[in-house]
Amino acid sequence: MNLLQQQRQHVFNQIEQVCQRVNRTAASVQLLAVSKTHPSSTLREMYTAGQRSFGENYLQEALAKIDELQDLEIEWHFIGHVQRNKTKHLAEKFDWVHGVDRFIIAERLSNQRLEGQPPLNICIQVNIDGQDSKDGCQPDEVAELVQQISQLPNVRLRGLMVIPAPENHAAFADAKILFEQVQSQHVRPEDWDTLSMGMSADLEAAIAAGSTMVRVGTALFGERDYSAKS
Ligand SMILES: *Cc1c(COP(=O)(O)O)cnc(C)c1O
Repeated sequence: MNLLQQQRQHVFNQIEQVCQRVNRTAASVQLLAVSKTHPSSTLREMYTAGQRSFGENYLQEALAKIDELQDLEIEWHFIGHVQRNKTKHLAEKFDWVHGVDRFIIAERLSNQRLEGQPPLNICIQVNIDGQDSKDGCQPDEVAELVQQISQLPNVRLRGLMVIPAPENHAAFADAKILFEQVQSQHVRPEDWDTLSMGMSADLEAAIAAGSTMVRVGTALFGERDYSAKS
């Protein structure tokens, strides 16, 4: 096994162990490979190791990789901050957008999805632990957003995404409660199946609390070198 294969196997082992401990099946947790700052050649290598879904944060960087890796069957997730004037590219080029925190963003994504494309999968990002950051809606706004967004024709509202402060594992339990509470607001409650939480440092706590998708960068690819970014 090469290094990337080993690191991926190690993350799978971690997922499996925690799932066993909390009585979940390992298949109930998806591994999203967060590949920001890494070159296309590295993604290609990770694809060869069996990885199919990749998460990117920066639009220009992501668009270049999507173009360079057209020949692969990758499921592309945008996990960065969504700017209102960037929704067109997101709607056309990605399979998932995790950072939707306002109705207007979801509405634009739905309007800008191309004819013939399947609905765009989206998650509502919630500021679950009251951080100062401007990303994510407030927990008490989620029910109404679910009700509104789930009526849009060209997006499929799948669940919630949270990024709690480091070490704040209690926030994962709060996210799980909210995730279950608001399902009944959804026009198609069966679509509501994704709780996107947990990164390299806290994926075990997130899975124990009910995460269905962990977004893992460093543990899969090694440390990021932001200075190398063009
Ligand atoms: C970068 C990033 C990750 C991955 O973080 P690691 O600590 O490298 O696993 C996950 N989610 C989001 C939103 C990110 O920006």
